[in-house]
Amino acid sequence: MTLDAFRSDLGAIKVEDNPKFVQKKSRDFYWYSPVLKRQLEGVSAELVVTPQSEAEVVQVLRAAYRHGVAITPRGAGTGNYGQAMPLSGGAILDLSAMDRIVHSDATRVRAQAGAILEKMDRHTKAEHGAEMRFFPSTYRTATIGGFVAGGSGGVGSIRWGGLRNFGNILGLTVVTCEEEPRVLKLEGADVLKVAHAYGTNGIITEVEIPLTAAYDWVGVILGFPDIIEACRFGEALGRQDGILVKEIAPVAAPVAHDYFGHHRRFIPRESSVVVAMVAPQSVEALEVYARHSDAKILFRSDRDAQGERLPPVFELCWNHTTMLGLKVDPSITYLQTQYPDLERVKRIHELLGDELPLHLEVIRFDGRVVFSGLPIVRFTTEERLEEIIAMHEENGCLVFNPHRYTLEEGGMKRTDRGQLAFKREADPKGILNPGKMVAWENPDFDFDSGRQWLFSGLQRAD
Ligand code: FAD
Repeated sequence: MTLDAFRSDLGAIKVEDNPKFVQKKSRDFYWYSPVLKRQLEGVSAELVVTPQSEAEVVQVLRAAYRHGVAITPRGAGTGNYGQAMPLSGGAILDLSAMDRIVHSDATRVRAQAGAILEKMDRHTKAEHGAEMRFFPSTYRTATIGGFVAGGSGGVGSIRWGGLRNFGNILGLTVVTCEEEPRVLKLEGADVLKVAHAYGTNGIITEVEIPLTAAYDWVGVILGFPDIIEACRFGEALGRQDGILVKEIAPVAAPVAHDYFGHHRRFIPRESSVVVAMVAPQSVEALEVYARHSDAKILFRSDRDAQGERLPPVFELCWNHTTMLGLKVDPSITYLQTQYPDLERVKRIHELLGDELPLHLEVIRFDGRVVFSGLPIVRFTTEERLEEIIAMHEENGCLVFNPHRYTLEEGGMKRTDRGQLAFKREADPKGILNPGKMVAWENPDFDFDSGRQWLFSGLQRAD
């Protein structure tokens, strides 16, 4: 049997085949989407392989190539689009044991792919007074390899943009899946061949990222009479060059009060809010700026959380907002959008009102302050979800569809030729995370057709 032959080539490398354990490690946070929940529920690998070193990764990929076993890499499994789910079965390659910090100084840190972001940040703060430019709100659990392969940006993107921007990833070490796997060091523009490719064209074993000065960020929640005022303030705050912020997230009433359990007592139900992280030396300036704008400071972590273990305010932001919502109302879901300006936010709010309570993230995108959206959707049917997406697109707003598990349909809406070319080189048999890159299965797929791509391997799992 193929799997037995694969296993016997692994020698002493840790392998687990307990079906319950394997199924747990075959899942991520795909269930945030009712569409992916329906499609991916039955997906499972047959084995979990946990290498302890780069040499073991090479050995696993050599064996996988030889026996044609599908390999799906996994960090912490916190992705939202089924990215880390093995559509073709085979083996999960769990990178979490490779978590060593390789090098750090005041400007950069290099770590093995399985290092948890919080652990890296604690290290560089303690050693060098430096911190990560930005991180996903899953900072406490996610790995650096998983973030680079499956994430986009997060807390800090108001200052530093996202992973797609040159300079935010300094270097990657990647192992190819060939007869004799190669260990490649990618730098400069080459990192984009593998960044946000869902592990379809190489296994990342090390990541190097730049750092910035560390601060004891103060969490602030500001109140507004409506969400449009909150957005107006959030955008203006993002353009205040003298106030140092790491996070700005407008969230509509009543979901801020209803969903933010730990902070509920600070937030009146009728208040829309802006959740912000501000450097300590900028808090006073923010107070002054808020008074000029009729914003009310409802909460300050340095004043109101004394002696209490409240979660950091970034765990009210990004997809944590959705998570907190799902705990209160399991029927909701979300979208990922980008609104080019406040007028477009207003238009969508007028069209959809409380069917789409707005949660936006103010970010820097190609040098401009824009609204990235993770609005809550009061979900009814998949057809209505499609209509809501169409309404966004008709009104000039981008949708990065979080209800699709392929790379291209989820955001790019086109083939990334660089990533496809690198896959031909690094994974000629197409066994790394099969089914996630449409261009590999069907180079002629028309992304404008509106059709949904269903990977043929899924038929096995249905
Ligand atoms: P995984 O989920 O394990 O993997 C992600 C993808 O990368 C998969 O395709 C996997 O196959 C691949 N992969 C993993 N490791 C490797 C490797 N070593 N080599 C090659 N491929 C690999 N994302 C954001 O960008 N910003 C946010 O603010 C954010 N907030 C979130 C909030 C919540 C509550 C949740 C549930 C998710 C959020 N996410 C966010 C998504 C996700 O948490 C992050 O992208 C996270 O960084 C993924 O890391 P991970 O270790 O869990 O990766």
